[in-house]
Amino acid sequence: MPVVYRSNSDPDYMCLEKYLESGAFGKLPDAWRHQAQQDLESLNKFVQNLAANTPWISDEYIEQIMFSDIEIPTKFDSPFNFRIINNLVVRIKSAAKRVGLDVSKFPHFSSIPTRRVNACAVNLPCSSKPFLLFDSQLLLYCHLFAKAFARCLPVTNDGEMVSLSTDIKKVQNRVSNTPEVLEKLADVLNAYVTTDAPSNSKAYTLEREYVSMTAIIRDGMELFVVAHEFGHVYAGHLKDLLTGCRLPTSGLWKYSASHKQEHEADLIGLLLTLHAMNESGYDAGLSYIGVDLFFRSLDLAERYTHILNEGGEGGFESEESESHPSNQSRRIFLDEAIEHIITPAEQLVAARSIIHDYNLITSYLLGEVIAKLPRRS
Ligand SMILES: [Zn+2]
Repeated sequence: MPVVYRSNSDPDYMCLEKYLESGAFGKLPDAWRHQAQQDLESLNKFVQNLAANTPWISDEYIEQIMFSDIEIPTKFDSPFNFRIINNLVVRIKSAAKRVGLDVSKFPHFSSIPTRRVNACAVNLPCSSKPFLLFDSQLLLYCHLFAKAFARCLPVTNDGEMVSLSTDIKKVQNRVSNTPEVLEKLADVLNAYVTTDAPSNSKAYTLEREYVSMTAIIRDGMELFVVAHEFGHVYAGHLKDLLTGCRLPTSGLWKYSASHKQEHEADLIGLLLTLHAMNESGYDAGLSYIGVDLFFRSLDLAERYTHILNEGGEGGFESEESESHPSNQSRRIFLDEAIEHIITPAEQLVAARSIIHDYNLITSYLLGEVIAKLPRRS
């Protein structure tokens, strides 16, 4: 069965494809990766290979995730990543409906191969709706960071129940007894900072007991990314053509969008993420961890960049850019916002307690990672 490209019949997707082709979003170095997946046989081989790295996955589940056809927005999309984004959008739309937002004009979305850890919302003059664009490397980054982070938590066997401990002393023991967990975390970060592509980090198998925690953290991060970009559209931030496409980290494109808009989109993003996670059965505290870790991980990446450039941590400050507030101030803003979002009071107390534990863990882990990162000699 041939691949169905929406761009062949729908003018909006045709418009996006034209923009991608013209280099309006930059070069597309990962286009070959995406194209390699656009053959049904290779795509399913790719899925099987992923499954082979996780031996505890049942044959039944593999059957479920195999592709029976390929329909993607443009010839630049990755069927695999587009499916992930589609699932996230379904969850965000459902959460948006639940809080009373109008989703009838929900933007189009697509996976792009610009090989940046990036996402953006754009208004294209030839499209009837805005587009949310997600780089595959960003999704991969969320997955790999969540996986490496979760593996730092020690497993506790409580009778039949296998759970992960968030006791800081036990986490410290786990890390000193199993130093490779920290190396994996540093490896993802190193690949992101030095090559811009988390796909350059070393692949490894995720143990069964870490699957659900990895999913909780990853889903929180990814849902937030989608909800944040939708937040820009919903709040009417995309008044000018292309002005919505801003990088999460400072640098390449500087637009005069105010920090207030970023906080606004973050707030909508947080609200929808908490609702979407709640619909999947997670409480507010655990749902918030992914959002918090998203900013902490970006902050850590900036810190690492500073170390590589300056040879040490001296003089590092969480940086703001013309378009974005610093990761630290975005995180602090959301940390204050949950006071008004999480109700009733008992839930907020429970959430604060989980967040407190994770704050200790992330500060410790990130400090350890920093101490172990290679320095310029
Ligand atoms: Zn934004």
